Amino acid sequence: MEQGFFFPPPSSPDLHVARVLLDNKRDFLLDYCIPEELEKEIVLGSYVRVPLKKGFSRGIVVDILEKQNSERLKPILRLENQQLTVPPNILKLCRWIANYYCTPLLSALQAALPQSVRSAVKPKQDLLLSLAPNIDLLLFQNKHKRAKKEKEALAYLQKFHPVRLSELPQKTGIPRRTWNKLLEKGLLRAVLTEKKKASFPPIFPSYTPPQNLTEEQRKALDFIGQQLENPKPKPILLFGVTGSGKTEVYLHAMARCLAQKKQVLFLVPEIALTPQLLERIHARFASSYTLGCWHSRISRGEKAHLWNQVLANQIDILIGTRSAIFAPFRSLGLIIVDEEHESSFKQEESPRYHGRDVAVMRGRLEGSLVLLGSATPSLESYYNALNAKYDLIELKKRVEERKLPLVSIIDLRKQKQRASRTETQKPLSNRDELISRELKEAIEKRLDKKEQVILYINHRGYSSSLQCSSCGYVLPCPNCSISLSYHKIPGVLNCHLCNYSTSFPSFCPVCKAGKFKFLGSGTEKVEESIRKLFPSARILRMDSDTMRKKGDLEQALRAFSQHDYDILVGTQMVAKGLDFPRVSLVGIVSIDSLLHLPDFRASEKSFQQLLQVSGRSGRGSIEGEVYIQTRTPYHPAIQFARHHDYLGFAEQELEFRKSLSYPPFYRAIMIRFVGNPEEKVKYLAQVLTREIKEKIEDNTTLVGTPSPAPIVKIKSQYHYQLFIRTLKVLEVSQKLRELLLDSKETLGITLRIDIDPQDLLK
Ligand code: ADP
Ligand code: ZN
Repeated sequence: MEQGFFFPPPSSPDLHVARVLLDNKRDFLLDYCIPEELEKEIVLGSYVRVPLKKGFSRGIVVDILEKQNSERLKPILRLENQQLTVPPNILKLCRWIANYYCTPLLSALQAALPQSVRSAVKPKQDLLLSLAPNIDLLLFQNKHKRAKKEKEALAYLQKFHPVRLSELPQKTGIPRRTWNKLLEKGLLRAVLTEKKKASFPPIFPSYTPPQNLTEEQRKALDFIGQQLENPKPKPILLFGVTGSGKTEVYLHAMARCLAQKKQVLFLVPEIALTPQLLERIHARFASSYTLGCWHSRISRGEKAHLWNQVLANQIDILIGTRSAIFAPFRSLGLIIVDEEHESSFKQEESPRYHGRDVAVMRGRLEGSLVLLGSATPSLESYYNALNAKYDLIELKKRVEERKLPLVSIIDLRKQKQRASRTETQKPLSNRDELISRELKEAIEKRLDKKEQVILYINHRGYSSSLQCSSCGYVLPCPNCSISLSYHKIPGVLNCHLCNYSTSFPSFCPVCKAGKFKFLGSGTEKVEESIRKLFPSARILRMDSDTMRKKGDLEQALRAFSQHDYDILVGTQMVAKGLDFPRVSLVGIVSIDSLLHLPDFRASEKSFQQLLQVSGRSGRGSIEGEVYIQTRTPYHPAIQFARHHDYLGFAEQELEFRKSLSYPPFYRAIMIRFVGNPEEKVKYLAQVLTREIKEKIEDNTTLVGTPSPAPIVKIKSQYHYQLFIRTLKVLEVSQKLRELLLDSKETLGITLRIDIDPQDLLK
């Protein structure tokens, strides 16, 4: 693909040649010579402007070749942005991502160097206001007797100055237009300044660190301390049960790394869900170090600013979601990946990289220690620890001798029989059996003792589908092959895949009957049942419907932690990382739909979810308990969760995976064929599968048969898939690239190649 341009030479000295990856073109590499005057400035990773046959382009220097006779090459025109360079290690990391994840190098680089950074978005401007010199306030007051607000504004600035214009309306209650009016009249002096950057979200400071480390924590830190001295450390899997004090281990490890004058990168699955963690990091380090927070909700300007701060060595600790793994640190000592088992570390669009695995690779490239933490490690990481690819540290006990909660299983099948037997005698308060009698009584007891309760259900809305009572028709999404969920507020049917919404039907579109049944409950329904059962309890619902705005979640968590609420009802939002000492009961209202998803990780994911939610109970001095309601009480995920038996679960599940040649023994690759009409998608899937089988199937690589995806229609596009398992993932990835990526005619059907896929449904 490399090619040069003819450039008529006046005289042609030997020059260095830069290989430039052009923006906006798929892996288009061109060679240019580096003019002498730019020799010093252009380095690997520079962002440059180059001439094309017609016009110009921008691009990144991905290689610098030896000096050579360059008369046939056009020169680089200039550096596009002086400060913007991708450090060599990040460049290497991107190359690895492109190879491993079978993705264009450009797309890896685009992930590493986000658009906001590349186009050097300027931080927004603000004005610093103070009173104009020599204004006669008395004169003004007399002249404008009725301008009350304006007088107030001037009086404020007389006392406090200078003040940012952006902050004034909030600080004073005087609206923006008043300040603007005063500016127009020339009564204020204004100096242009950069808008304040919120590099760290607001936190609620209530945290006091523990005095002493536990024995297990101390041992863990001794080992981590040693490894921080090691120039080529192995990644460490920190496997600590819920409430064992992993955060404290992270904080001490960070302190040691910072003391070596190296930086720390802290990856979390989702920033919004970790206010307590942020608070702890902030409380411990904000006074002596500079912290940054990187996630999808910060503005483009803030992103660009933060990236440049990291590059300029001005950030010591960066906390962020997966894309923070590309932060251009120069001497990164420690990368922490908290809740390493979370599938949100996997990016579901190109480049489809796994933040945790990229972290491990970055650690290897830069000699940084990688610390993967979880109470429920992914089987991939656990298997790596078993095979000594990772070192394993275990925290087996909760801090202060606290016990893990006692888990009881409630068999909902029996519940039903019992309900029908008693129904004739006296009506049950909960006829829909959403909350079993045992769970109800347990909640009652805890409320009497003024303790707190968390109820988990893995679906939002009121019900997951709506069925005609008379003909059984279930209302589908017109764009996707799933049913519509019912949301009582605001009274609509909604698709959780494409967000299609429609009002509640007055009659069945098939048989015209006018009665419906609600199938499959969600958070809204649980909330309703609980309100009926416990009318005086203070109930907080937490899901993406109630936590829409920035700050909602922080506020809700703060309120719950201050015991403004007794019961917290929610989706997986309530399952992660929360540490509330007064929570003594966790009720898992339903887990069954998770258990039986068509995904080989369904069991693992359910088990993790069960253990994580359970782990919210009994974290303080009160002993905790957990109730799991299910119709499949014998399921291994439930049985092992009942005994908090990760090792037992892992052993059984690994055996199962081995027998089927699934990950972690084989690597999985999912190829998705997406488009319209269905026949064409199916046809292409079959044709390409034949080709793939021919070229890559052997005794280390198993190619499946193409089939409709579990959800065959998503957003009006048809999805077919091909599942491949292999022992030689890099090799297969390379072959797939040759076969599928490079200039393949695909009849307008999109191909998606997903290496180590996490979500097999969408
Ligand atoms: P994990 O992340 O492992 O679930 P956390 O780090 O949130 O657990 O710790 C659980 C609780 O125990 C927190 O409230 C924390 O402040 C407290 N804690 C941690 N280490 C200690 C210790 N050594 N002594 C007393 N309390 C501790
Ligand atoms: Zn839909």
